[in-house]
Amino acid sequence: MQITEIYKSLQGESTYAGLLCVFVRLMGCNLRCAWCDSEYTFTGGHKMSLEAVVAEVQKLSPDGGLVEITGGEPMLQEREVVPLMQSLVDANYTVLIETSGERPLEKVPQEVIKIVDVKCPASGEGGTFRMENIATLNRRDEIKFVLSTRADYEFACNFTCEHDLASKINAVIFSPAFRKNATGRRDADQCLLNPQDLAEWMLADNIPARLGLQLHKFIWDPALKGV
Ligand code: SF4
Repeated sequence: MQITEIYKSLQGESTYAGLLCVFVRLMGCNLRCAWCDSEYTFTGGHKMSLEAVVAEVQKLSPDGGLVEITGGEPMLQEREVVPLMQSLVDANYTVLIETSGERPLEKVPQEVIKIVDVKCPASGEGGTFRMENIATLNRRDEIKFVLSTRADYEFACNFTCEHDLASKINAVIFSPAFRKNATGRRDADQCLLNPQDLAEWMLADNIPARLGLQLHKFIWDPALKGV
């Protein structure tokens, strides 16, 4: 499979935020989100066998723990990534996959926790989520909406309520988008949507979701890769 990078850091998103995690970042994405912070995955990378990826994960985290399969869009390499996820599960890792849900998710192993980033209108990739994937979600999975406008927020609220997500999955996360190419300052002013506004809207509307900030962008320089 084609890999951009494998590294250990703190998980910055989802309900697993703050935990040590090994990230396996696959090369390539078929979307072009307006605020994408992973454009360096679109090209390049290097070929690695399943065995070499598992060995690298074991080197970074020998005693099990959390591994996130991410990208880019990892499900573009479904034929290689599905056996990889199964091998990591079999080796006693807790495996997360971060995906846009544009590709089918039926073949993701049951034990793997899906973190699905449903694209909102201002991303420029709204409508790309494959609706059939809703049926693949279970009580351990999470849906994340990355928001940069009030219209994105309203889209996320409607999607959450229409599909009764709160009763079907582990968490619905509303996360303010970070400014593309943000660098230097590590503060909320770098978000495209003010987290305080988002918090107040959620309170006013009684939304069954949690507000998620990208923790790593408040710890390290937001432009830093491999953290
Ligand atoms: S799906 Fe992810 S990697 Fe692909 S363009 Fe959007 S933010 Fe970037």
